[in-house]
Amino acid sequence: RKVAHWFHSKDLRIQDNTALHHASELAQSAKKPLVCVYVNCAADESWHGTSAARVDFMCEGLKIMQKELKEINIPLVFLECEDRKKIVETVIAWFKEQNVSHVFGNYEYEIDEMRRDLELVNSTGRDVQVSLYHDQTVVEPGTMLTGAGTPMKVFTPFFKAWLDRVGSEPELLDTRPPPAAHPSSMKKELKHLFDTPAPKPAKDKQFATTEDQKRIRKLWPPGHAAAEKRMDSFLQQIPDYASTRSNPAANSTSRLSAYFSAGMYSVRSALQKLVDYNSGSADFTATSTQAGVHAWVRELVFRELYRQTSLATPHTSMNLPQNLNFTHIQWRQHDDDAETAWHKWITGTTGEPFIDAGMRQLASEAYMHNRLRMNVSSYLTSNLLLDYRRGERFFAETLIDWDLANNTLGWEPSYTVFNPVSQAERNDPEGAYIRKWVPELRDVQGKAVFAPHARLSRSEFERLGYPEPCVDWKASKERCLKRFKEGARRAA
Ligand code: FAD
Repeated sequence: RKVAHWFHSKDLRIQDNTALHHASELAQSAKKPLVCVYVNCAADESWHGTSAARVDFMCEGLKIMQKELKEINIPLVFLECEDRKKIVETVIAWFKEQNVSHVFGNYEYEIDEMRRDLELVNSTGRDVQVSLYHDQTVVEPGTMLTGAGTPMKVFTPFFKAWLDRVGSEPELLDTRPPPAAHPSSMKKELKHLFDTPAPKPAKDKQFATTEDQKRIRKLWPPGHAAAEKRMDSFLQQIPDYASTRSNPAANSTSRLSAYFSAGMYSVRSALQKLVDYNSGSADFTATSTQAGVHAWVRELVFRELYRQTSLATPHTSMNLPQNLNFTHIQWRQHDDDAETAWHKWITGTTGEPFIDAGMRQLASEAYMHNRLRMNVSSYLTSNLLLDYRRGERFFAETLIDWDLANNTLGWEPSYTVFNPVSQAERNDPEGAYIRKWVPELRDVQGKAVFAPHARLSRSEFERLGYPEPCVDWKASKERCLKRFKEGARRAA
């Protein structure tokens, strides 16, 4: 009987893959064949709104993995499933057909994916054993507890506890070796399972033009090797990360998010590189390591916290905010004005240069710098008073690095309303990011680039062909705070 590893959309690598490692060890010691499987379900991608960029990235990544596995005599089989509710049924039928005795997989923490795994465990029957592993994070979600024994939800204490834990248990960062080569006799025995065609993006998930495809593939080459190369080159820049990470023109962040989201690179592998960089120490506290290293680890820990949050507050993966008081906000209705505002936001024509630059970067690169994500989300929900879930969905439909936990928690409504002019002045002091992405403003000199409507003469402004701000920032901030407070009162 065979051993199987079931890949999902968040563990697309053979290096440092916990469940795959255990599956391979069992198969080797029991002298059983190991088979890998991936279920492609276009309906599931549509359900989540996954972008064309991300679907393509995953399809190309799967091809690379199939090749890597073939070299060590392990087949990766692609199954097609039309109905997202039948994914488990489809894979179980295949396990039966293949006479699989033991299935391995890595946990995913979103509610539907947890239900999927529960269904797998409940439906395989006694004849098939299922082993699931925590793999996405360094510290197992659900194990970082407050004094009262509940999962921590607040970042600062979580970060401190995480640093203490990893400093005292550096083995948490140990990576799992990739599967050793299986006997070449397996290749003959399983001949019919090799080379099943890799999934292709569904019609509604294809790039609009071949230029788009070329540009995105060049920016985001798929696979583990590409991610590792990116990590190595990021290490050259890490000394400046703390001081430049908020400046979008500096381009000083790692741009590894797409690889972490699809699991093409593991956070353990990244942190192992940092341990080497850190002279062998897993102590990433501010006093013991470089400011850049500490600041980058801090970002990775946000990702760790958000996986714990998905598990502890499952409603965050069910279209509800973590703070349920925000469910009572009265958002602007779908009237003409609201739709015009929405259209301006998605096309980067709001008349706020920093916001428009961010939205145009997203359209071009399937990626947006974190500082801009914070600003454009604040602008949509607070200033335009449009339901944050529309923005959240739009991000899913456009980002290559879409991750349900990071995205929904990033979009959580907040009483902090960002001022896009002062945000730009502070984080893009030369205006280089704005000039790059908003060509209408390329020749605007000095600080006028941050607020051309207010800082240029009427005739100078009109010559630019750039829109006026679509809302008055101050008045819209007041409107939003009033609505948020009314929402909180209704919730109480
Ligand atoms: P780096 O600065 O190099 O950070 C390293 C890694 O840390 C990132 O790759 C990412 O895995 C993690 N990280 C960094 N910032 C955050 C954060 N604020 N929250 C959680 N993890 C973080 N990130 C996604 O991966 N997918 C999303 O869909 C996503 N949506 C977002 C939506 C909003 C509204 C906001 C405010 C943030 C969102 N983020 C999301 C978080 C963050 O913007 C990106 O992870 C980051 O910009 C990716 O660039 P990088 O890899 O160069 O980051």
